[in-house]
Amino acid sequence: MFRSIRWRITVSFALLSLLSLLVLGLVLSGVLRQTYIERLEAQMTAEARLLGDTLAPALAAAGSPADLDERARHWSGLLDARVTIVAVDGTVLGESHEQRAQMGNHANRPEIAVALDDGQGSSTRFSSTIGQQMMYTAVPIVSGGQTLGVVRLAMPLQAVESSVAQIQGILTTATLVIMALTVLLAAFVSYRTTRPVRKLTEAVRQMAAGPLIDSPVAASRDEVGELTQAFNAMSVQLHEQIHTLQTEEAKLSGVLQKMTDGVLIVDQVGRVQLMNAAAEQMFSVDPAAVLGASLIQVVQHHLAVEMWQRCQNTGESQSTDFELRPMRRWLAGSAVSLGPHLSGSTLLLFEDVTRQRQTKRLRRDFISNVSHELRTPLAALKALTETLQDGALNDPPAAQRFLAQMETEVDSLSLMVTELLELSRIESNRVPLKLHPTRPVDLVESTIGRLALQAERAQLRLFHTCPPELPLVLADETRIQQVLVNLVHNAIKFTPPGGQIVVGAERQESAVIFCVRDTGVGIAADELARIFERFYKVDRSRATSGTGLGLAIVRHLVKTHGGQVWAESEPGQGSSFYFTLPLA
Ligand code: ADP
Repeated sequence: MFRSIRWRITVSFALLSLLSLLVLGLVLSGVLRQTYIERLEAQMTAEARLLGDTLAPALAAAGSPADLDERARHWSGLLDARVTIVAVDGTVLGESHEQRAQMGNHANRPEIAVALDDGQGSSTRFSSTIGQQMMYTAVPIVSGGQTLGVVRLAMPLQAVESSVAQIQGILTTATLVIMALTVLLAAFVSYRTTRPVRKLTEAVRQMAAGPLIDSPVAASRDEVGELTQAFNAMSVQLHEQIHTLQTEEAKLSGVLQKMTDGVLIVDQVGRVQLMNAAAEQMFSVDPAAVLGASLIQVVQHHLAVEMWQRCQNTGESQSTDFELRPMRRWLAGSAVSLGPHLSGSTLLLFEDVTRQRQTKRLRRDFISNVSHELRTPLAALKALTETLQDGALNDPPAAQRFLAQMETEVDSLSLMVTELLELSRIESNRVPLKLHPTRPVDLVESTIGRLALQAERAQLRLFHTCPPELPLVLADETRIQQVLVNLVHNAIKFTPPGGQIVVGAERQESAVIFCVRDTGVGIAADELARIFERFYKVDRSRATSGTGLGLAIVRHLVKTHGGQVWAESEPGQGSSFYFTLPLA
């Protein structure tokens, strides 16, 4: 409180007025006192002269009349002063207040000595006789040019002192009133003066504490007003700058969060400073625990940490590919140094390349599969041709047999080419569906009709359990037959002789579920998920003919019908393939 401007202004004003009133009071009472004394002295001198003139004839006549004490008392009563009549030699001739006999010679009294020399003398001193501060005035008693003695009047200065004290009392009261008014005025002025400063302080505090203040602080018209205006201008500028920064930040974080690549910024000691949503998902980490965590804790792969370290050491961009084992995902990581401005931080980018790698692998598998599949019939064709050239042509029955075998091989080659073309057409949506309400049992029966002979040759029982009263489904008959043929064909291929294949269908809510069930070799659980991929063939079945395209065609056709397809299997026990078609 004592440090506040208000307090300082108020105290300064109060001290200043107190000091000036004190000085004024002292000077004034001094001057007054002096004036009173001078006036008293002048009055006493005049009275003394009058008395001297009155006493002169008696003194001139008798020298030392016996009634001088009486006269002194008489005049003392009239003048209200002590009257002393002194001879030129200092002998007291008359006295109004004291026993003259006890009074000594008065020649050495200053006022008397001066009066005899100069015609008038005055002095002020404490009278031990009266016990008070007194004023003494003496004038010579002159008659006919001869000094006969001195008459002295003495009056107590008490009246002067009480008059001065009265004036001092008035002055003190005035001082107190003026002081009180000064303090009030100073408090008011300082309050008005410091109010804008307080408002400004409050606004600055508010600004420091949180969001920026929206409304400007009201400016006064003085110097503080200029400061307030400058503050308001600064506040507006700050507002704009913060807004720009926030917009930039929002854009940047929007881009970061929407990016499908994982982004991390790591400081020079390897602590994560920033991480986007894609990265959080990629590494399955809790966003709340990421900031400040070490890189190895977050990415959990030594190759990523080594990449960051290489970038940190060399200052050059680095990259690496690695597999996140638990998630079975392949990531392509790159590290770029953000330079000295961001105190040695490094930007790490991670791209999920699982799909690309899968496609790459599938393509590789496909090429190897197709080459394998092509090599077998081509090798057989080559061998058959050579045999024919080597003389088998001359053996017509053998030549016939070889030609029949050559035809089979050529059929196998053309099937593969047809399937490849078919899949490519379906995948690129170049097969328009001709949808019609169709009886499920018709679809099932025509498929069984087409494959009955093939099943019989493979020594398999093929039949259906499809109720004829099932509701109609919306299907392109040719395409759904192709689906069923592919599934039954696979069942024939992968079921040893003596087994059976059942085609069924049943209604479920707004769809019909078709099922092709066999008692064949079955499919392992981890491969079940992949058999619908293009070119995928279970290793075990490599030896059997097929391109790995059949189920991919099935999946695409069912999906374009708006249905779903899946498989269940138990290795060694058989497999069941299901697909749904919407009701017509
Ligand atoms: P393919 O032309 O090789 O038959 P598909 O796409 O039709 O190609 O099948 C892919 C793979 O799925 C097959 O190679 C086979 O390993 C497996 N498969 C498909 N159907 C069956 C089934 N009924 N029983 C066992 N395995 C099957």
